Amino acid sequence: MDFDEKHGVLVDAVATDSPKIAVNAKPTAAIIGAGPAGLMAAQRLAEGGCAVTIFERKAAPARKFLMAGRGGLNLTHTTAADAALAKYGEAAQHLSAALEKFTPDDMRAWAHGLSQGTFVGTSGRVFPKTLKASPLLRAWLRHLGYFDVSLRLKHRWTGWDDTGRLTFTTEDANGQEQTSNTFVADITVLAMGGASWPNLGSDGRWADILKARGVGVVPFAPSNAALCISWSDQLKSKFAGTPVKNIAITSGETGAVGEAVITSQGLEGGVCYALNPVVRDELRSAASATLHLDLKPDMSEDVIAERLARPRGSQAQTNHIRKATGLSAPAIALLREPGRGALPHGASEVAALIKSLPLKCTALSGLDRAISSAGGVSFSAVGADYMLKDRPGVFVAGEMLDWEAPTGGYLLQATFATAIAASDAALDRVKATLKIA
Ligand SMILES: Cc1cc2nc3c(=O)[nH]c(=O)nc-3n(C[C@H](O)[C@H](O)[C@H](O)COP(=O)(O)OP(=O)(O)OC[C@H]3O[C@@H](n4cnc5c(N)ncnc54)[C@H](O)[C@@H]3O)c2cc1C
Repeated sequence: MDFDEKHGVLVDAVATDSPKIAVNAKPTAAIIGAGPAGLMAAQRLAEGGCAVTIFERKAAPARKFLMAGRGGLNLTHTTAADAALAKYGEAAQHLSAALEKFTPDDMRAWAHGLSQGTFVGTSGRVFPKTLKASPLLRAWLRHLGYFDVSLRLKHRWTGWDDTGRLTFTTEDANGQEQTSNTFVADITVLAMGGASWPNLGSDGRWADILKARGVGVVPFAPSNAALCISWSDQLKSKFAGTPVKNIAITSGETGAVGEAVITSQGLEGGVCYALNPVVRDELRSAASATLHLDLKPDMSEDVIAERLARPRGSQAQTNHIRKATGLSAPAIALLREPGRGALPHGASEVAALIKSLPLKCTALSGLDRAISSAGGVSFSAVGADYMLKDRPGVFVAGEMLDWEAPTGGYLLQATFATAIAASDAALDRVKATLKIA
């Protein structure tokens, strides 16, 4: 595809493959949002014979996808299907068919089809061999360029006019929004993402447009967000930015094992993200949620106590704990937080603290830096095919829908799977409506 500087549009995507249905009956599809869900819907619909126009409010496609690639793009996972489905909590029932249809192996095959090799990391997570999103995105856009796909950048979708045409604002050279363009298509796929990292495009403003039309939208909340914990100045000044490896965190019955990073605001990292739903629930009715850190999950409290009870001679207590347990300096600093700098004296008291260090989480960090968002278009507003019940021909895909999942490749897997389910259903519908074989 070429970039049309004058119009801020990537165009030129005339089909070079023979369309699979008659050209004179070519159905049209509008995709709103050029994130992974929108691009996958575009691929599926274009390969199925539609003339596809993608509208994207930012000046470039898939900015969040590119950001996701900065820390090593975790495309999918190798978790067994049942365990993977459980990661989606209550939304699992609405995602299971889509996730069964588009599996992690299909995700890898898709990437390989774009000549992007993948590998399984030690954690069972799947990454592109380049680890980045940009080569994959470039190959993907190149692939779309072989089909009848055009991409209109700097087009913000604003709803429908009285005749049912899609409406958009565009931007002038100074970034000011200009009044509307309209567009009509046989089918529409809404793929505008959730509401985290709004500066990358998905600002969730679509929610008001849909709510005004009577579509149920569950309020957004940060997901895969850092835990806000009020640390002592000493911990912050010495250890902000430092990882604490191999820890377990629990909140009530829910727990996770992994690594966290101490920040000036609290703790972040996969092990914290896994607890987001339960912490969010607790914070609805209380000023803080109590979490417990196990700083030595592989060692029993008895063994730790026995080691700490050995004579320490002239060693400082910190050194003694470090040598007896192998705890790192930041982990030992965390042990000092409840006592405002002081450690308990007895071996069994220290062992108990190492195994169950209480932390008060006062909030989840905001949507502006959360990896994803909970909330979105309610599953009660769409059918099993992800078509809006009150707006036939309009489908919803990706993080716009009301599901959440921990990091680990589950986000992109469900984003792609819902995009494929929605666009395949859209294709069936348009073929039936236009009576195309
Ligand atoms: C830092 C970070 C790291 C991540 N790492 C991973 C990872 O390793 N693995 C993983 O599985 N997931 C990861 N994710 C999550 C993943 O990126 C998202 O789940 C995924 O991008 C969601 O895709 P989507 O297409 O539904 O929405 P988005 O990617 O948000 O795309 C939506 C698009 O719609 C556009 N849009 C919004 N409103 C309008 C409008 N009104 N008109 C026109 N266009 C509009 C937006 O500009 C955007 O381009 C990460 C996220 C972040 C922020």
